[in-house]
This record gives sequence, C-alpha cells and structure tokens, in this order.
Amino acid sequence: MSKSLEKSRRARVVVHATSVTSITLLLTSLVTSCATNPVTGRRELSLVSESQEIQMGREASQNDVRRVGALSGTPAEALVKRIGTKMAAGSERPNLPWEFHLLDDAAVNAFAYPGGFIFVTRGLMTHLNSEAELAEVIGHEIGHVTAKHSVAQMSQAQLAQIGLVGASIFSSTVAKYGDVLGAGTSLLFLKFGRDDELQSDALGFKYSLTDKYDVRESPKVFTTLGRLSGGAGRIPEWQSTHPDPGNRVQRAEQRIAQTPPAQLQGLTVNRDSYLKLLDGMVFGENPREGYFKGTRFLHPELRFQLDFPTGWRTANQPDAVIAQSPDQSAQLVLQGAQGTPAQVVQQFTQQQGITLKQSSQSSINGLTSAQASFDAQTEQGVINGLVIAISHQNATYMLLGLSAPAATAQRGPEMETAMRSFRPVTDNAVLSVQPARIKLITLTRQMTGQQFVQSYPSSIPAEQVYIINGIDASTSVAAGTILKQVVGGTLP
Ligand SMILES: [Zn+2]
Repeated sequence: MSKSLEKSRRARVVVHATSVTSITLLLTSLVTSCATNPVTGRRELSLVSESQEIQMGREASQNDVRRVGALSGTPAEALVKRIGTKMAAGSERPNLPWEFHLLDDAAVNAFAYPGGFIFVTRGLMTHLNSEAELAEVIGHEIGHVTAKHSVAQMSQAQLAQIGLVGASIFSSTVAKYGDVLGAGTSLLFLKFGRDDELQSDALGFKYSLTDKYDVRESPKVFTTLGRLSGGAGRIPEWQSTHPDPGNRVQRAEQRIAQTPPAQLQGLTVNRDSYLKLLDGMVFGENPREGYFKGTRFLHPELRFQLDFPTGWRTANQPDAVIAQSPDQSAQLVLQGAQGTPAQVVQQFTQQQGITLKQSSQSSINGLTSAQASFDAQTEQGVINGLVIAISHQNATYMLLGLSAPAATAQRGPEMETAMRSFRPVTDNAVLSVQPARIKLITLTRQMTGQQFVQSYPSSIPAEQVYIINGIDASTSVAAGTILKQVVGGTLP
C-alpha cells in the first residue's frame, strides 16, 4: 500500500489475522484461468541454474524489502549483516551474492531465498537474547542455501506457482494480490522437509562453532520458539515455514555433548551487547501502520478508518488490507492506487476479462470517489465485483469487492456498506497512537521472573515477558542481569 501512496510516510499495514490460504486459492483460480500471457520461466525453472537461482532469490528479496520494509542503517541490522557475511564467506558457497536483511516485521521469523538472500525479522530479534542465538538462526538459514534445499526439492507445482510472480494476469490488480498474499514468493521457502531442517540445524551449529559462537546457547533458540507455538498466541512464522523435525532441543544438546571440550573454550555469547541493540525497538505490530479495533480498521499515519463486515476474517498486509467472508464466498481488498478516483476505476474496468456494468462518480463521507460494478470472467465462471476509488489527503485508495454470483445478493450490499464506511480519522488518541517498545532493565538485586514482572510491569502478558527473556516465573535472575520490559502500545 505504502509505496504507491506515500513517499515520505510509511503506510505499512500490519498482519492482523492468520490464514489467507483460502483467499489465495480464490485468487489462484482467477489467475490460472486467465493466463492469457503464459506463466514465465516454468520450463527453465525445472533445471535451475545457479544464475537463475540467484535471480529468483534476488527478485523475491527485493520484493520483500519493498513491501515490508527493512530496518536499514540500524546497529541491529549491522549485526545481522556482520554475522551473516562472515559465516557465508566461510561456507561451502562463498561466492554467492549473499545479502542479509533485517525486516521491520512483527512476525517471529527468519528465512532464506535461493541464491543467498537471508532474512531475519524484528519480531525474531526481540525474542532472542544473545549474538550467539542470532548466529545460530542465521547459520540455519545459510544452511538451507548452501545445501540448495529451496531449489533442489521444489516440485513442479511449486515452480508453476512461483512463476506467477510478476506474470501478466488478466488483471494487474489481481496480480498484485497474488503478491500481497505471498502466493508466489512465500512458496520459495514454504516447505522444507524434516530432513532439510535437521541438516540446516546441523549446518547452523557447525557454522556457529567455526565462527567461535558459543553453541551451548543454541538450545535456547529452539526452546523459545517452542514456547511461542505452545501458547495461546499464533504459531511463529519460523515454525510454520520450518516444520519441526522433532526434539530440536534434544538434538542440539546431543551436538554439544559430541563436541570436543577443547572446542567449547573461549567462545562468544555477547548477551549484553546484543540486548543493547534492542533498547527502544518496536515490539509486536506497529499500530502506526494500521490496526484493527474489532471490525474497525484504523490507520493513524494515513488518517483513515473503515468498518469491515462483522464476522469476516481480516488480514492486514504490508500493501493491502484483505477481508474474507466466513463462507469464503466473497472478499474485500483495500489498497493504494495511482491517479484520480475516476482514472483508477476506468483503468481497472478496462482490463481484459472485465465487463463493466455500471459506473458513477460521487462523494463518500465528503471524499471524492468513483465506482463501478463489473463482472470478471474466470475459468469457474463469472465473479461479480464492485470497485470504489476514494481520494483522501493527496492519496487515492481502491476498494475492491468480489463475490461468487450465488452470494452476491447477500455479500454485495454487505461489502458496499463496508466500502462506504471509509472516512477520515479525527480522534486524536488514534492519530497519536504509539507502538509498544522494548525497554532494558538492569537488575539492581537478585529476583525471580515473577518479581521482575511485578517490579517492572509490561504492557504484554507476564507469560510473554518470560518467553522473550528466556526465563520462567520461578527463575532466579542475578543482580546486574539485563532483562527486557515492554512498555507502551496501548490502543485507543
Ligand atoms: Zn529451516
């Protein structure tokens, strides 16, 4: 959303809800049916050369950085780059154009694209507690690349779907959704097998040890990720993109036990210097980039709000907000657009495969708007749609509602009501909302985890405070230890 709207202000919208798989499937059906321009590169991809591997990885990587944003130029990013660059140089594939990025993403995740493009998220960094733990994660991701997991084991179906990225589809707008929903790029790293994960864990351990990181810290990474997935919260992304090979902690401990004691001397942990990089870092989703309050979506930076239909699933993506009806018969998308409202609607309805029914121009809640109803031809038949473009604060937004014909009588009006609820935000509390941030506390006396959360209250649940600090309520923490408190971020 942000890039087409705003150059200075970032209009990033944070992932709010969970699965968009079925929306993806709906879109995929649109996409496959309308492949007037054949999916590019599929045949070549079946014999992936190194240069193709690099090209695929680079495109996916640039796409992620553009969509999600990176914490460029920060000391935290510098550490990710420093660890990764050294490790990659000592790996089996030192000559790849390795890149290491720190994504400004609340998801607890790390991933690798083919060709040597490695990503760690802000969410992951705030959950780790030392440079050695971070090195273990980066080493694991480097392992996926050096062992060519992402390329060698790709199925033909995955390759076909990857080909969707950037392919010309009946509607460039719909092509963008494929992008938004990660239908293409995420598959590059989506499913590593159990054996791949075991091998990458072992490689991460080996690379860490080679670079003199204290591998005795490695079980903590898997413990933290395990605690996250065991809780009430959503499963960390790293867990979903990296199927757990089972007993990761145990296997890490076995590796440590099998390492000659002499090799475990003089290794680096760098706990305090690592934690200091996190001081003031945003924790969790950043509400400045848009957030949900019930069914209402509020965007403080872009100063608009919209009420989605009750009971719909919503996903708050970097460049769009997406909602889907409970029966999956309809979906609603909000994203940025270029041009006046009338131009946006005209351009949309002139796309191949779209039949314009009615169009008009008016205003919605005092904002200039244009709209058109249309039919979109797909392999499965016709889909009914309504597109509304609205101008607000020197930006134009496009709202798109799609429904299966059998559902249009019910979902059509529901979606139009939601689309017409787009209005400026005037509440100062919303406009000035701030994210939660990490605040470092150096303990002046020994205390338990429970005493810590009582003495230094956080704006997140105590259980979560324990997890991000790698402690329990009963853990005795020594005086002088640095722990993370999370402050602020209360949503109006
Ligand atoms: Zn992995």
